[in-house]
Amino acid sequence: MTDEQTTYDVPPDRTPVECEYCGRPLENEGLLALHRGQVHADVIGDEERAAYESTHEAETGQLRRFRLKALAVLILVYFGLLMVYAVV
Ligand SMILES: [Zn+2]
Repeated sequence: MTDEQTTYDVPPDRTPVECEYCGRPLENEGLLALHRGQVHADVIGDEERAAYESTHEAETGQLRRFRLKALAVLILVYFGLLMVYAVV
């Protein structure tokens, strides 16, 4: 067993929400829902699980859109350089 205490540096101008299971400060309700679903999956209730699932889905959608945009940018850069190479 370790008696090492994890401490968190919260900026003084922020008001974090705290996890009711382990006391960890999180930036907002969405992150708290994700934290509960991942770290305390075996103890949370139905309502918290539903919150986790909807937040997780929203997050996955955002990630998917980001990946598409990143891919589009990569393709544009690739063909842009190809054109430059063809001209010069
Ligand atoms: Zn926690």
